[in-house]
Amino acid sequence: MIFDNHNRPITYLRLAVTDRCNLRCFYCMPEEGIKYLPKAQLLTYEEMERLVRVLAQLGVSKVRITGGEPFVRNGLMEFLEKLAHTEGIKDWHITTNGVLTAPHVPDLVRLGVGSVNLSLDTMDRERFRQITRRDELPAVQGTLDALLAHNVPVKLNAVVMEGKNIEDIPLLAELTRQHPIEVRFIEEMPFNGEGSHYPVLNWTHRRILDELRALYPDITKLPDPANSTSYTYQVPGHAGTIGIIAAFSRTFCGTCNRIRMTAQGTLKTCLYDNGVLDVRALMRSGATDDDLKAAFLKAFAHRPKNGFEAEQLRSPVTESMSTIGG
Ligand code: SAM
Repeated sequence: MIFDNHNRPITYLRLAVTDRCNLRCFYCMPEEGIKYLPKAQLLTYEEMERLVRVLAQLGVSKVRITGGEPFVRNGLMEFLEKLAHTEGIKDWHITTNGVLTAPHVPDLVRLGVGSVNLSLDTMDRERFRQITRRDELPAVQGTLDALLAHNVPVKLNAVVMEGKNIEDIPLLAELTRQHPIEVRFIEEMPFNGEGSHYPVLNWTHRRILDELRALYPDITKLPDPANSTSYTYQVPGHAGTIGIIAAFSRTFCGTCNRIRMTAQGTLKTCLYDNGVLDVRALMRSGATDDDLKAAFLKAFAHRPKNGFEAEQLRSPVTESMSTIGG
């Protein structure tokens, strides 16, 4: 296993397979004028297979597929088939908006997906349309139903936003009464693709918890899994759990075991850094696996201590979560 310069093991890769998305969530992307990467600048699936294999040899054992929206890239299922059989990868997961996912659920199960993170900020069709600028709530609900029907572990992720979906906190939390899912409320982060503003964070993890306590006075704290970014709670008697993720307050950096690869093959050793290694250029200039390993190890030896330090070392945030790989 490889440890970084702060003695944190690096075991978890989040791999963006595309920067494209079929939604336009206002907190993630501008409505118009998005400059998608030309195909030649995206990592090919072969390149992704190679870097997963090399990272697995360095101790990465968990992979999350993300984007952009993974299911908009052709050939995803064939790639997942390969990923599922990569030596050293013990579990793999996928993050999706659920618009195109439902028909693929049986194959995800067949390939042994560990869990699916489904992004869903609201249960209301009009609010969904306002937030995502697309009218796709029924499709997303179809994916949730399919995942539940196939007993896939589900984490339902909702960004909490003043004036947009506060009324959904109780509606989403109530899903845990019947369903064995984890509903996770996430602080909004500054990655909206416009670089224009830092959101004033009205809904901190503490305020989200206060709201949940007001709704469920007997809500109980559960132990958090190792390396978890989420504070886990449960309402007694509910089948599922509730998580709160301090994504903006960054309370979890001390145990961070994750790295990210953007769709164009830039390594990020922190969500808040500016990209620390151009892996695509290395691969396309003929680097051997050993060259790649050496470059990865060097990057892991210079990891910022936390998201605040990473942010200080860079130019202001301008990118979208969809290019970073959320
Ligand atoms: N398309 C997939 C999806 O929607 O799940 C994967 C990529 S998306 C960028 C991953 C996650 O990032 C989503 O749950 C989304 O809500 C979250 N996200 C995007 N922008 C964010 C922001 N500014 N603050 C907090 N979360 C954000």
